[in-house]
This record gives sequence, C-alpha cells and structure tokens, in this order.
Amino acid sequence: STMPPLLASIANAGRHGVLVKSATVMETVGRTTVVAFDKTGTLTEGAPEVTEVGAAAGHTEDEVLALAAAVERYSEHPLGRAIARAAAERDLAVPEAVDFRALPGRGVTGRVGGRAVTVERADAASATTGTVVEVRREGEPVGTVTLVDRLRPDARAAVQAVAGLTTAPAMLLTGDHASAAAAVAERTGVTSVRSRLMPQDKVAVVEDLQSRGERVLLVGDGVNDAPALAAASTGVAMGRRGSDLALDTADVVIVRDELGAVANLVRLSRRARRYVI
Ligand code: ADP
Ligand code: MG
Repeated sequence: STMPPLLASIANAGRHGVLVKSATVMETVGRTTVVAFDKTGTLTEGAPEVTEVGAAAGHTEDEVLALAAAVERYSEHPLGRAIARAAAERDLAVPEAVDFRALPGRGVTGRVGGRAVTVERADAASATTGTVVEVRREGEPVGTVTLVDRLRPDARAAVQAVAGLTTAPAMLLTGDHASAAAAVAERTGVTSVRSRLMPQDKVAVVEDLQSRGERVLLVGDGVNDAPALAAASTGVAMGRRGSDLALDTADVVIVRDELGAVANLVRLSRRARRYVI
C-alpha cells in the first residue's frame, strides 16, 4: 500500500479495536519508557461485588447497605454501582438522598433525611485484599462495606508484554489502600506500586517521572484518572466501562477492552517509526 506508515498503523490499530486519536499520538506512543496502570477498572474488571457488610454498634447490616446505596445510586463509579446493586438484590428499602456529590478518588457524599452521609475509602490500614469503604452519618461510623473485583484474565500477560518494551518496570497507581494494591501487584507481576493516590497525586507521579526524562504511558478508566491521563505523554482509556471524562481526555481508547492492546500499540508505533528507546 502507499499509505504513510503512521496512518497505516492507525488503521491497523483500529482494526484491533484501538482508537488512536491523532498521528502525533501514534508517533509519541513508540517513545514510551514506562507504562503505568490504574488498578480498579484497568487491571481489574471494574465489576466489583459486595462480599461483606459490617455494622457499627447500634446498626444492622441492612441499614448500612441501604444507607450506602441511597447515596451510591447516583454514582457512576464501579464501587457505587456494586453497592446499589447489592441493596437491590437484597430488596432493601433504600431511602432518598439529595445533594449527591462525587469525591473523585475517595468516595461519595449526599444528604439522607437531612443528615450528611459519606461513603469513602476506609482510612484505617486494612489486611483485606478487597476494597473496604466506610459509611458515615454526620461523621459517625455506621459501618463498612467490602467489595472484591476480579483481575482481568489478560492483566498479567499485558504487564509482562510491556515490561519487555520499556526501560523502567511497569507501575501500578491506585486510589485504593496498600493491601488491595499489593494483591493485584503480586498477581500481575508489577513491582512498583503507589497506593492511596488522589487524582492530583497521580498527576504528581506522572509529572515527576517525566521531569526525569521518562515518557509515561498511563492506562486508566476513571474520572479520577483524567488529570493524569492528560499529563502523561500518552493517556490510554479503557473503553467499555470507562468514564466519559477518561474517554474524552485520553489520546487512545481501547475499545475492545483487551489490555494486550497497550504493548501492541507501542510495537506498531515503533515499526512505523523504526525507532528504539
Ligand atoms: P483506582 O485508582 O484503583 O481506580 P479509585 O481512585 O477510583 O480507584 O478509587 C479509590 C478509592 O476511593 C477506592 O478504593 C474506594 O476506597 C474509594 N472510592 C472511590 N469511589 C467510591 C465510591 N463511589 N464509593 C465508595 N468509595 C469510593
Ligand atoms: Mg480506575
């Protein structure tokens, strides 16, 4: 074919379900020196399930779940959707909530019966590999909800594949707590892990690497990843369950949700440009 190599590789990526937004992106992606993965919804399926509900003294498990679901049913976060679904599955009477607000990278808040309710990342160190969120009313603990998300079947292979193409080891960046992050890191072979990151902390990690000459390719799905996707040399969004903000901000969208697309993209770009890092 007489198609210019960059354009041909964009067309090729498209046939594999990867949307590359510009020729510049296709060129930049080949220069990647380090790949950073978000955890929830990126290395994991992003379809968590509630596995445990804990009630503080004076409350029942059903109360905890119903109160959490009251606020979470307005959330687009996978954790929020799982909590709302769990309450529906148990046929709980979920009260009305008003003044809903998402706290990206942290949780959600709203008012139920005139009282402030938050569902947030539990602050206490946790031994569980699941994600523990804390339900509070007017600041008082009501209970906790534990959720477990499955690893994507291709997560480990995808991490190994990029490791062979970059100079620095693959990284895991997550808003979740350390033990949940460590469990996913161990199962995927990621050795460099940063946990409990707020959206701006993810940006700081990316900018710090880039100020030291690294070219970061970040893969993410959430609203909380959007600022870091914008800061990274290449931002890649998971398409199928990704948030609109991540899809808009990213340079590349993995439409078919196959993580192996990341390594393929780097290879395609290098083949088109014939450069080595
Ligand atoms: P990741 O960076 O792994 O994709 P997020 O940044 O989306 O994870 O979330 C980080 C943490 O913030 C979660 O592990 C959870 O504790 C908390 N969190 C985020 N969104 C919600 C929500 N809707 N309800 C409860 N907790 C949430
Ligand atoms: Mg995520």
